[in-house]
Amino acid sequence: MLQVKFIAHVDRAKCSGCKLCEKVCLTDTIKVVNKVAVVDDDCLGCTRCVDICWHDEAVVMVPRPTPRYVGTDVNEVDAEQVRGLCAQAHRLPGELVCVCANTSAGEIAAAIIKGARSFKELSFATGVLQGCQEFCVPPIQRMLKVKGVDVTKAGGFLKYDQTLSMWDIPKAAQERFEYHFAEDLALATKSREGGE
Ligand code: SF4
Ligand code: SF4
Repeated sequence: MLQVKFIAHVDRAKCSGCKLCEKVCLTDTIKVVNKVAVVDDDCLGCTRCVDICWHDEAVVMVPRPTPRYVGTDVNEVDAEQVRGLCAQAHRLPGELVCVCANTSAGEIAAAIIKGARSFKELSFATGVLQGCQEFCVPPIQRMLKVKGVDVTKAGGFLKYDQTLSMWDIPKAAQERFEYHFAEDLALATKSREGGE
């Protein structure tokens, strides 16, 4: 669940209409219209447009009149389906995946089960991908792939394929190194698929 306290605000007199902000907004909530950026009320307050804007404070963050809450109730979908999708992504339902939005793997799975199939839809459903993107991207990519989504085309600027983890290392490469890889992999798989 993400609490959105701020919203982007454009100073029309300073905006050059360069569209840089458009390119970094994963939710398409800032768009240049008639050469001036316009912010939609659905803005999730990630501040990426502010960071990228080269024109002196053409876009800034301002407090929302009331905070907005973004999240999916994991209890609204079948627990077995949630557990199964998480297991296929090598995660436990209760495992924290996004520390910025405080979102668990189970909440992301629930949003996907309810129909989210892109980064934008998952952002609006759970609040993920709006912060650092250090931890949430690989498990999100993996869960979307389970549902057949091509993550290179799932929207926004994240156009690369699955971030690799130990489950993706080819057998031949595993056997070349003497780091007890097979044992580590078996242990990690067991711990991630063994339930809450
Ligand atoms: S990046 Fe800044 S100057 Fe460029 S369109 Fe967006 S708000 Fe305007
Ligand atoms: S703050 Fe983030 S979500 Fe809001 S308009 Fe800017 S880039 Fe988009």
